[in-house]
Amino acid sequence: QTFGQCGFDHTLLGAIKRAGYEKPTPIQAQALPAVLSGRDVLALAKTGSGKTAGFVLPLLVHVLDQPEPGKGEGPIALVLAPTRELAEQIHKEARRFAKPYALRVCAAFGGLSKFEQVKELKAGTEAAVATPGRMMDLVRMKACTLGRVTYVVLDEADRMLDMGFEQQVRSLLGQVQPDRQTLLFSATMPKKVEGLVADVLSNPVHISV
Ligand code: AMP
Repeated sequence: QTFGQCGFDHTLLGAIKRAGYEKPTPIQAQALPAVLSGRDVLALAKTGSGKTAGFVLPLLVHVLDQPEPGKGEGPIALVLAPTRELAEQIHKEARRFAKPYALRVCAAFGGLSKFEQVKELKAGTEAAVATPGRMMDLVRMKACTLGRVTYVVLDEADRMLDMGFEQQVRSLLGQVQPDRQTLLFSATMPKKVEGLVADVLSNPVHISV
C-alpha cells in the first residue's frame, strides 16, 4: 500500500515525502482507509507504531473538506491525549503536515501559558490538541467552544482513564455534536475502555496490529 492510494492531494503527499515517510506503517495501512471513509474507528495500537500520522493525516483532510475552515468559532478537530508530552508530540506532527495549508493547530495542556492559549483560541483555530484537564478549564472559561467539532480523537484512551480523566473526557464529548466522527486509540482494552467505547463510538471499524 502507498500514501498515494489514500487519495491525498499533491500538497499533503509532498509533506509526507519531506517527513521521510516512504510507505504507510501497518497501523497506518489499516487506519487510513477506515478513517478516510468517515467511519468511527477503534484501534488497538502502541506508541511507536506510527498511529499519530494515522489520525493526523485524515484530520487535515477532514478539516479541509469543510466549507470554510478558516471561518467560525472553535476547532473543527479535537485530539485528547493523557499527558503533555504526548500532546506536544501530536501537536508537532499535526503542525508539520498542516503547515503547507496554513491551517492553525493549537495546543492546550498544562505547562503552557493559559493566557497565550486563550489568545490563540480567540484568534481562531481549526484543530486543537489537548489534555482533558486543560481543555475543560478552557471550555469552562468560555475561551473555547466545541460546537463546531466534527472530528474527535481519543489517543491512549487506556492511559487517560488510568489517570482519572474519564469524567472530563465524557463531559467534553457531551459538548460535541453526536454526528461527529470519533476515533479511539488504546494500547490495551480493559473493561473501563470497553465501557467508554460502547458509549462514545458508533458502529466502529476495529483495527489492531
Ligand atoms: P508514533 O507511533 O505515531 O509516535 O510514531 C513513531 C515514529 O514513527 C515517529 O517518529 C514518526 O515520525 C515515525 N513515522 C510515522 N509514520 C511513519 C512512516 N510511514 N514511515 C516512517 N516513519 C514513520
